[in-house]
Amino acid sequence: MPPDFVVPAPPLPRLRVRGRRAGFPVHRVYCVGRNYAEHAREMGHDPQREAPFFFSKPADAATQSGRVPYPPCTTDLHHEVEFVVAIQQGGCDIAAAGALAHVYGYAAGVDLTRRDLQATAKRQGRPWDTAKAFAGSAPVTEIVPVGECGHPRAGRIFLEVDGALAQQGDLADMIWSVPEIIAELSRYFELQPGDLIFTGTPAGVGALNPGAHVRFGVEGVATSEFHLGA
Ligand code: MN
Repeated sequence: MPPDFVVPAPPLPRLRVRGRRAGFPVHRVYCVGRNYAEHAREMGHDPQREAPFFFSKPADAATQSGRVPYPPCTTDLHHEVEFVVAIQQGGCDIAAAGALAHVYGYAAGVDLTRRDLQATAKRQGRPWDTAKAFAGSAPVTEIVPVGECGHPRAGRIFLEVDGALAQQGDLADMIWSVPEIIAELSRYFELQPGDLIFTGTPAGVGALNPGAHVRFGVEGVATSEFHLGA
């Protein structure tokens, strides 16, 4: 018997997988910043001069609940719909040419962001954790195994707020492709089974009011929805 823990051990975050009874265990949630040129420009940056970059969220950011609490300490909670990669096989320095073999499946997700806190952090040169890394900050659809959706390189990605289209883009417009993201990310971190990678958001990010209904997805992969708490 292993020794007990001195405080209660946290549960392993677990996501539903299409067509499987077994769940997907979330290890880490990596995110790509500014991976669509139009979104980089709407945030005031020049995609020709600045490459995409990485940040992360904790595993308990991932949620498939139909109710997501409105987080505290913000009056400007933004939606960022993203194509999500679920990793099945880890590694360091993964070559782009073989990177897709490391992918278990795909999903759509929303990188919820306390934009007011992020603006303050940017201005002060401080970390983004308070803006990005709160529990429930990464709603995701079911995980879809590669055997069911292949490796999408194009397809409509969208997000609706209260029935109105807010964000729309195409996976073909990503600056870094999925193999390029896996290759670059695995230079910095040893990827592990259970990692999720949020691959960046297209243009049209905006604020969500408490009580909003959000529907989001990637055509040919998955769609989901949630209600934001009051
Ligand atoms: Mn994002």
